[in-house]
Amino acid sequence: MPQQKLIIANWKMNGSLNALPAYVQAVRQVPFVLCPPAPLLAPAAELLRGTALTLGAQDCHAEPVGAFTGDTPAPLLAELGVKHVILGHSERRRGHGESDAFIWRKLQTAAQAGLVPVLCVGEQEGEEPLEVLGRQLQGLGNLMLTELLIAYEPVWAIGTGRTPSVPQVKDVHLSIKAMVEKICPNLRYGVLYGGSVKPENALLILGEKAVDGVLVGAASLDPLQILAIHEAAEQARL
Ligand code: PEP
Repeated sequence: MPQQKLIIANWKMNGSLNALPAYVQAVRQVPFVLCPPAPLLAPAAELLRGTALTLGAQDCHAEPVGAFTGDTPAPLLAELGVKHVILGHSERRRGHGESDAFIWRKLQTAAQAGLVPVLCVGEQEGEEPLEVLGRQLQGLGNLMLTELLIAYEPVWAIGTGRTPSVPQVKDVHLSIKAMVEKICPNLRYGVLYGGSVKPENALLILGEKAVDGVLVGAASLDPLQILAIHEAAEQARL
């Protein structure tokens, strides 16, 4: 039977302490990675005990400790029970001026803390995907990583309701896989798709063999939509 496809929920700067228990209760049977805003990580870690969910974070700093006001240290995330950390999301590349070099340092720090990094890559509208991906992935060869997830997120598809066609997703995923295998031959990795994944398109996207899972933004805020996307992931395995 094909492997289970991974679902990562990126809440971005949404959610609340009040709403968290009811959300977790509604989705407690669904195996997915919940990435709430940083202030919700500690209460979420408590609430996720005994559920099928695991905890993820939306970012960490490139240094493990130090004078970096407002930033999040990877070792502390690990101490809280966080398993995955999203890094290099286009909203951070754009909004916080994060460069590829800085993001690669974050990857190393996260991995050293025992976290699985989820590296977001993807082109802006009008850019050539493979050119951008080549640039965003080229530093991986200099890192000591054992496990990595890569989320292919075309920037123009995030929050827009637009997605590439499934053959386009397949082509890009296969290219990413070829690049990763060339740059880091012994790495354990998977490639997820992200950008306007909804219950309506989840089966189509997850049904593609080259797609190892999905990174879901807006739709992940609604338990019913997460349940439906999980259902699609299960069907995609059959
Ligand atoms: C994201 O920003 O990671 C994302 C996938 O967002 P959305 O699903 O809302 O497009």
